[in-house]
Amino acid sequence: MLSRFNPTLFKNMIVKPVNCLKDNYAYIILCEKSKQAAAVDPVEPENVLKAMEDFPDYKLSMILTTHHHWDHAGGNPKLLKQKSGLDCYGGSKQVDGVKHILKDGDTVQLGELNIRALSTTGHTMDHLCYYIDHEDDRAVFTGDCLFSSGCGRFFEGTPSDMHKAFSKLVELPDDTKVYFGHEYTISNLKFAQHVEPENKDVTEKLAWAQRIGCTTPSFMANEKLTNPFLRVKQVAKNVVKDPENASEIDVLGELRKMKDNF
Ligand SMILES: [Zn+2]
Repeated sequence: MLSRFNPTLFKNMIVKPVNCLKDNYAYIILCEKSKQAAAVDPVEPENVLKAMEDFPDYKLSMILTTHHHWDHAGGNPKLLKQKSGLDCYGGSKQVDGVKHILKDGDTVQLGELNIRALSTTGHTMDHLCYYIDHEDDRAVFTGDCLFSSGCGRFFEGTPSDMHKAFSKLVELPDDTKVYFGHEYTISNLKFAQHVEPENKDVTEKLAWAQRIGCTTPSFMANEKLTNPFLRVKQVAKNVVKDPENASEIDVLGELRKMKDNF
């Protein structure tokens, strides 16, 4: 089952999605020059270690955690026990097994790859996205902040926090590949269609997602076209009563409430 999640072959790195639990994605990032590897949100360590068997020359050297929820951080203690000497990164001491707490803009070196932590609060207050921009390779790991054509619930933060997080992500180059934390793409696109029925990119992507099943990764360019949470200006008329006078943050808050009840 795991093998159908094809790795992305970049110029200098490989990213391998690993299916965990029902619809979670962990990821393995491989630096081709140094043969070092990182695991992102390895909630089921056995699945990650199994996937590492496809890359026998590589050494797993770190865990990157997007946020403290158990379905992302809950595998850390087990993996740390199974593999000695791993570094474990996260955004707060609430993250199981965390050894190094990262702030916005902090960087981690995985061999030749420079990985930048972006503080993206809202879903949780310790949420981090991890961004890599190495030569022509660009990837961002968005956990439960941004999904393909959707986003995580605003559990700990406000619409204003989430707006700030999305503002950081939309600044990333259009060709950045987006590796998200859950396969919710089909239901996200059904909601996107509901709030923006005239959007042809959404209709096309929904047909594609239904055909392909595993939709990771997305691209920033596609998210700007299909993700209603990044399109508050375009969807406002179907979300709030007075779109002319509503702020982007107001629309975002209402949009999330609509999605929670969709
Ligand atoms: Zn979460």
